[in-house]
Amino acid sequence: MLYDISPLISEHLSVWPGDTPPGREVLLDMAQGAPISLSTLRATVHLGAHADAPSHYGLGAPAIHERRIDVYVGPCELVRVRAKRNRCLEPADLPEQIQSPRVLIDTGTYPDPSQFNIDFAALSPALVEFLHERAAILVGTDAPSVDPFDSKELLAHKTFLRYDMAILEGLVLKDVPEGSYELIALPLRLEGFDASPVRAVLRTI
Ligand SMILES: [Zn+2]
Repeated sequence: MLYDISPLISEHLSVWPGDTPPGREVLLDMAQGAPISLSTLRATVHLGAHADAPSHYGLGAPAIHERRIDVYVGPCELVRVRAKRNRCLEPADLPEQIQSPRVLIDTGTYPDPSQFNIDFAALSPALVEFLHERAAILVGTDAPSVDPFDSKELLAHKTFLRYDMAILEGLVLKDVPEGSYELIALPLRLEGFDASPVRAVLRTI
């Protein structure tokens, strides 16, 4: 069984304030007598469920097309935490025995992808380091960032950079039971880009 953990991409999907929301420009429309329908998508690459590239937060760091794709497919653990809004999650907020190459964290602090809220729970650098020590190569969250909304130093992102760990943001995890899955969340092969939307799914094992 597959759980879809990607929000619907539509004009109602919210993006980071100031970023480019999704828009569809119709070039040809069969309903108007055209032989085919054809349209153009214009949007930020940080769209809904997406993978950040290291070049998003590290000068000269790899772009999304340079990332190993096997990081985005494989065994995964979904954990649900009691996160406080406007706070950073610490290692103590995670199950003590957590050990997985991929960890998805449902903070529950970004409940509606069509309504951007700035007080989502972020990840502390200590938590990223803790998961690195527990063999994690990828961490995902339901929040739109791993750092607090108003963060300038981006300490969590920098910790991901230091350990060459991958980031997934904007996941929809609330309807999925905690447990072990196979994650499939491949980014597009976008040359030079700082992120890519993903179709993220969890397969039951
Ligand atoms: Zn990010």
